[in-house]
Amino acid sequence: MTEAIRVNGQRLWDSIMAMAEIGPGEFGGSRRLALTDEDREGRDLFVRWCEEIGCGIEIDDMGNIFARRAGRDDSLPPVVAGSHLDTQPHGGKFDGIYGVLAALEAVRSLHDYDVTTEAPVEIVVWTNEEGSRFAPAMIASGVYAGLFDKEYAWSRTDSDGKTLGEELRRIGYMGESPCGEHAIGALLEAHIEQGPILEAEQRQIGVVVGGQGVRWYDVHLRGLDSHAGSTPMPGRRDALVACAEIISAVRALALEFAPDAVSTVGKMSVMPNSRNTIPGEVFFTVDLRHPDDEVLAKLDRQFRARTAALLDGQGVEGEIEEIWNNPAVQFDAQCIAAVEQATRALGYSNRQIVSGAGHDACQVCRVAPASMIFVPCAGGLSHNEAESAEPEDLEAGCNVLLQAMISLANRPSI
Ligand SMILES: [Zn+2]
Repeated sequence: MTEAIRVNGQRLWDSIMAMAEIGPGEFGGSRRLALTDEDREGRDLFVRWCEEIGCGIEIDDMGNIFARRAGRDDSLPPVVAGSHLDTQPHGGKFDGIYGVLAALEAVRSLHDYDVTTEAPVEIVVWTNEEGSRFAPAMIASGVYAGLFDKEYAWSRTDSDGKTLGEELRRIGYMGESPCGEHAIGALLEAHIEQGPILEAEQRQIGVVVGGQGVRWYDVHLRGLDSHAGSTPMPGRRDALVACAEIISAVRALALEFAPDAVSTVGKMSVMPNSRNTIPGEVFFTVDLRHPDDEVLAKLDRQFRARTAALLDGQGVEGEIEEIWNNPAVQFDAQCIAAVEQATRALGYSNRQIVSGAGHDACQVCRVAPASMIFVPCAGGLSHNEAESAEPEDLEAGCNVLLQAMISLANRPSI
């Protein structure tokens, strides 16, 4: 009976720890930026592990890796599970890696118990999810979903001017098959929550029903550089003071739409950045998110209107450029049901949840049925080397993943 199969939690933990030794971070986490030598080493280890249990490997021309375990009817579209192996510069051991290695552990368990599913099952590694070396994030799953052109993706550069395409080729992961053509019958992505909700409510599993909408803006403010000593306070055209007021307004705006709205100014540069010159120019970014696209549109209008009102009379000109508008996503009902049923059958405490972060599944769900499984992480902390998760929660999420994969791969209608 496939319902009785359980994953090996110790082997899952050991694999996560072994992967973390590749590109170890300074503070106990991981530094494995996309398409670096460390990323290649992590990929090589993953491929070796998959080959050890007899999986066939296919790599597409965005470097996405699909490791396949044949089904009884191998012509059926596969049930795919996975995530990403790249990390932030000061990344943790679990973000992304857990989803890949939980999928590997699920397939290893099928192998141990000699279970053949009706449809094939596959483990996927998506390239450059983090976007910290090559922006934007989730670019390879985005190409898969038709959201980005491949040429655009290949031409993205890192801070040294190296392109994503060159680096893919250099590390030997520019595959043959065209990205987007590999069939996916259903996609499941297990991930740490990267937020505090499951931990606070002491629930082991988040049944993820969708992802919130995101809007990214580049904002340029132009005032006038002038002498800090001899320019009187009235009449100054201080772009940084205007920026500070906008930052406060952006924060207030999200608080007005609590608890679901979030807003962040995470990047800023000040020109000329000199202590005795009034800053004449400021560049900063704004990130607005909400699970409901209509509310997000309202936030967008308010952000623009309040910025214009704040700048009025300050002698500072502002320009807001929207650089990304990623609508909220709703995951597939059948995939959500498979996760929910598996969670219930296994007896894990759970709740439905909306993903606060972007994930590869949020891209792929636009072209294939997909959903996600969240497990708690300590303090909700992620994108930080101190990121941590409990072995028993990781094991629980992996058991849910395994059972959901089996039920989707054996469903008659796939
Ligand atoms: Zn991630």
